[in-house]
Amino acid sequence: MPLYINGVSLPARRATQETNKHAEHGRPERQRRYIKGIPLQMQHDFLIVGAGFAGIVCAERLASAGKRVMIIDRRPHIGGNAFDTYDENGILVHPYGPHIFHTNSKRVFAYLSHFTDWRFYEHRVLAEVGGTLYPFPINRVTLNALYGLNLDEVSAAAHFERVRIPKSEIATSEDVVLSSVGKDLCEKFFRNYTRKQWGLDLSELSAGVAARIPTRTNDDDRYFTDTYQFMPARGYTEMFECMLAHPKIEVELSTDFFAVRTSLPAKQIIYTGPIDTYFDHRFGCLPYRSLRFEHEHLTNLERYQPVGTVNYPNDHAYTRITEFKHLTGQKHAGTSVVREYPTCHGEPYYPIPRFDNERLFKRYAALALAESNVHFVGRLAEYRYYNMDQVVGAALTLVEKQLCLAAA
Ligand SMILES: Cc1cc2nc3c(=O)[nH]c(=O)nc-3n(C[C@H](O)[C@H](O)[C@H](O)COP(=O)(O)OP(=O)(O)OC[C@H]3O[C@@H](n4cnc5c(N)ncnc54)[C@H](O)[C@@H]3O)c2cc1C
Repeated sequence: MPLYINGVSLPARRATQETNKHAEHGRPERQRRYIKGIPLQMQHDFLIVGAGFAGIVCAERLASAGKRVMIIDRRPHIGGNAFDTYDENGILVHPYGPHIFHTNSKRVFAYLSHFTDWRFYEHRVLAEVGGTLYPFPINRVTLNALYGLNLDEVSAAAHFERVRIPKSEIATSEDVVLSSVGKDLCEKFFRNYTRKQWGLDLSELSAGVAARIPTRTNDDDRYFTDTYQFMPARGYTEMFECMLAHPKIEVELSTDFFAVRTSLPAKQIIYTGPIDTYFDHRFGCLPYRSLRFEHEHLTNLERYQPVGTVNYPNDHAYTRITEFKHLTGQKHAGTSVVREYPTCHGEPYYPIPRFDNERLFKRYAALALAESNVHFVGRLAEYRYYNMDQVVGAALTLVEKQLCLAAA
């Protein structure tokens, strides 16, 4: 069963896009279908707003349970922020920044494995401090190289114990960092990076942000230590296409929910966009952090940098550079990289984990609870700094609950 997007089968859509590369939105006017033209009798059981991880998992699960589903996205592609595509030089890139899949959840990994093969990949990150690259998260090698020491594991632990600044209460990200690695490492690796990334001082961010980054006394230089660390063998988008290729799923792209909500009849809605937008920012805007991505292709250069990502905590306006071929294993004579410039304007990428924001979110969450037949799931709808696997888990749980309720 081919995947149909905006009523056009995927192979036909790809051929059309190829011949209309320069047409507006890559789609000729005569093939554009208007959603308002959908006959009423085609009412769906579920309308899903947002074709990112959250929406696609819900669509697949519901369709497999026999429900008629329509999934829409205001962007011209599926996959949300995890969308990947070949750049004009033929390299598979992540337009919305590097996405590395990792999880400890057997359930999530087993579920996604129905739709993709995997490529084993353990992400490694180096941080440039004072012109030298050091393993990050900080480990024994980082300490030895930075301070010219020769610590073994026990003495590395003793070093952290000596420099750490104990805190009676861990409330902020600054508390987390100071109480684990002390002032010098905090200033060299964390403080400026955080200011760039979030536009805030470490002391203004919830503890959970810094708590995502471990400190190690051994030589483990992997960024993640999860049980399952793999990339979809042919990319995320191909996995998503496979998930959506179900006869009970209709996909409509370049379609904003708020422009079509009254003309799209559905018994239930699953909404994965920003929760404050859904309620017309009634209590004010929830703050999000955005990014500007600067993509670059380098011809006749097989490798740009030694690992997938290099962090620049102290220099440059960008936070990090990622080279995609490390992530994907693709062989190519050239290479493509992306630089990330954090900004407060643009697409909402990161909910900002702070106490005040959480309080504001809770007011919206209360409205969401009272909304009948509308379910909120995903990074933006739940205002959570979720990884992909957590979004998949949340979507699986939501659908299981809905199906149980329907069966009751
Ligand atoms: C730069 C960056 C790097 C990341 N790296 C990683 C990583 O390495 N590993 C990891 O596990 N996670 C990573 N993440 C997190 C990951 O992107 C998310 O957890 C996941 O993609 C969220 O899926 P989602 O479906 O909740 O949201 P999204 O992917 O944001 O999808 C929501 C969709 O809803 C659509 N939408 C919104 N409003 C409307 C509307 N009104 N009408 C129609 N459609 C609408 C949007 O266009 C979007 O496509 C990263 C995130 C970012 C920003």
